Amino acid sequence: MKTKQKATVKKVTSTNGSMVDISLKFNEGWSYSPAPESTDHVSIKERYELFIGGKFVKPIKGKYFATINPATEKKISEVANASSEDVDKAVKAARKAFGPWSSLPARERGKYVYRIARMMQEKARELAVIESIDGGKAIRESRDIDIPLAAAHFFYYAGWADKLDYAFPNKKPKPLGVAGQIIPWNFPLLMAAWKIAPAIAVGNTVILKSAETTPLTSLKLAEIIQEAGLPDGVVNIITGAGDTGAAIVNHPDIDKIAFTGSTSVGKIIQKAIAGTDKKATLELGGKAANIILDDAPLDQAVEGIINGIYFNQGHVCCAGSRLFVQEGVAETVIRKLKDRMQTLIVGDPLDKNTDIGAINSKEQLATINKYIKIGKKEGADFYQSACDIPERGYWCRPTLFLNVSQSHRIAQEEIFGPVLAVQTFRTVDEVIEKANNTPYGLSAGIWTDKGSKIFNITSKLRAGVIWANTYNKFDPASPFGGYKESGFGREGGLPGLQAYLNLG
Ligand code: ADP
Repeated sequence: MKTKQKATVKKVTSTNGSMVDISLKFNEGWSYSPAPESTDHVSIKERYELFIGGKFVKPIKGKYFATINPATEKKISEVANASSEDVDKAVKAARKAFGPWSSLPARERGKYVYRIARMMQEKARELAVIESIDGGKAIRESRDIDIPLAAAHFFYYAGWADKLDYAFPNKKPKPLGVAGQIIPWNFPLLMAAWKIAPAIAVGNTVILKSAETTPLTSLKLAEIIQEAGLPDGVVNIITGAGDTGAAIVNHPDIDKIAFTGSTSVGKIIQKAIAGTDKKATLELGGKAANIILDDAPLDQAVEGIINGIYFNQGHVCCAGSRLFVQEGVAETVIRKLKDRMQTLIVGDPLDKNTDIGAINSKEQLATINKYIKIGKKEGADFYQSACDIPERGYWCRPTLFLNVSQSHRIAQEEIFGPVLAVQTFRTVDEVIEKANNTPYGLSAGIWTDKGSKIFNITSKLRAGVIWANTYNKFDPASPFGGYKESGFGREGGLPGLQAYLNLG
């Protein structure tokens, strides 16, 4: 299928007063031939078991569930549904492994973590394809962002393993014990790396549960871990849904819960562990403000807006889903943004030209469509690119709403899809107030030519991560986490290590 974009006619007044057509002709010369990523090097089993105590074992109750390719709606494989008995088995394996693992010389632990990173790099192409098949994300993103970053987290924390006395001088850092780790479906392997790498580097053992729609790269990681010869039980990887997650949270022999997911489940977890000795880090939802000042480099800012909201189909907790544009440049920014949206290719996640892949699941597509309906009903102006989308699978064209007001639900609630809510502002004080008027506080973006404005605004925004003249940039050395309903605790960097240590 060739992808063709449609034109929209736009006219502006030229300096001599005549009307000039400046619309880009998307139906001329904007088509691409397919460039599919090869899949012949990929091996996916028909069925996966649970990785407990260094072995792949059948679930005690013998239950399995299917994982679906959201771009084709076809079953890819089936994975075990871990019961609370399986969770208990995994916790016992992790507890047994904790003593020997935590007393291993730190340098030796670092070598294992490093070996896992190297093996992830060796299998990067396979991991990228599986990530795209299982979760729907464009291969360009899984190949260039998810998988390299996941390996980078293992490299980074491998380096810290034997340097804790320098990282935390005079503190005598000690591992916490057994960590229960629950991850979401938007960055499956990357989230597994964020959680596992720092935990084991400093001597903890873990039970990780992947999300129900994207279990496959975690299971591939389990194969890598087995091949790397990591001592049995140091990392246990299980699959299942919310009740499996709850069994981890409620297990009495777990010392720490690390959770990334929705704010609603984060609240359930916090209630469940209240009054226990369990430590926790919760990385929850977001509704980030992406702020464009009138002195910003507008073309770069438009790229930043696109990357901020349409990266990974908008399935990003730190997505720049609320756009604030200063009034003087609003018309130009919106025109450029709409043009850029028309060039985005939505479709086959395995095609290297694809910008926006499949929505992760039928349920998530229903949620996004619900919010699009709400936005229209609330009276915001709806705009969607006119691109073709495949007949089968779960898709959503890049979407924006103009004339949104603060009270609209599409400006307040996390949609977790390619839907942008646009507002304008006049003064810096006004935009700071609007940007902070949200229950969330995970991330924000600011675009301006002036460093002084960046320092002023970033110091007043209540968000854990703030990007200036860029967006959605991640690095293992950089801590990530939120305020308010976006959760607490940090992952990445030294704070990410500290979250797995007792500092005496
Ligand atoms: P989303 O709504 O985006 O799917 P969730 O917060 O429901 O996000 O899911 C994130 C992770 O939390 C998944 O691995 C999911 O299985 C798990 N989960 C869901 N409910 C619970 C729960 N009550 N306790 C622990 N984990 C849960």
